[in-house]
Amino acid sequence: MKAIISHDIDHITVSEHLLRDLIVPKFLVRSNLELTMGKISFSEYVSRWTDFVKNKWQNIDELITFNNVKQVPSSFFIGVSKGIGLNYSNPLAQVWMEQMISRGCELNLHGINFSNINVINEEKELFHKLSEHRANGIRMHYVRTDQETVLNLSKAGYKFDSTVHAFEDPYKVGGMWELPFQIMDGWVIENGKRWQSASLNEAIERTKKQIEKAHKHNLKYLCIDFHDRYFSKSFKTWLDWYVWVVDYLIKNKMEFINYETAVNELESELNLNLNKKDHI
Ligand SMILES: [Zn+2]
Repeated sequence: MKAIISHDIDHITVSEHLLRDLIVPKFLVRSNLELTMGKISFSEYVSRWTDFVKNKWQNIDELITFNNVKQVPSSFFIGVSKGIGLNYSNPLAQVWMEQMISRGCELNLHGINFSNINVINEEKELFHKLSEHRANGIRMHYVRTDQETVLNLSKAGYKFDSTVHAFEDPYKVGGMWELPFQIMDGWVIENGKRWQSASLNEAIERTKKQIEKAHKHNLKYLCIDFHDRYFSKSFKTWLDWYVWVVDYLIKNKMEFINYETAVNELESELNLNLNKKDHI
């Protein structure tokens, strides 16, 4: 099994949310609740206010640097449309797209529309225009799908999608590979609540079980989704969890690849199997 770690960009600044959505009041309620319940320390609480004043709700550079040190390829999904709490502007997204490309990261689309093929196509085109780079892949924001989403993404010409949560190997839908993901930071740490409900140890135990499950299913790839927003001492449990998971996989001799490499591997394997069949 090889590991593919990817990061969804949901926020860039605090101010992008003001007067647009309820993310800021929700953040304030959540932070106060987590402090009162003893889920976060006072210094963590203070750090959150520091980020707030600095208008900084992304940790992209810091995360790429950490990944580079650990030899983990950085793979990002960044949005070009607004929707459910994702409200950064296209010019701001462009700044970070350039940064990601210049630092050798894999860059794909964090999609908003999951139900209308025309809008799906428009988002793909807009991503291309803004980044001067074609999106090979996509993950839907909030992993939203309907019956047709995966098929529509395939029709739109994506080489892969990683929106589906399943302990299953990649499979083809038309010309596109669906690479299901298995582990999502928030699901492990918030455990179905709207605030941090698990301790670091509980999150670690839960993650070990999920990695074990992936081994039992003999999966080719273990796909993990970690949001850059939480790569910060303002979210210490999340930060410590990510550092733990990377070190744990390294200790267990896991090879890290990105989606592009995985798709190339899957294609060559498919061609090899087709050739074998031809020779029978
Ligand atoms: Zn998202």
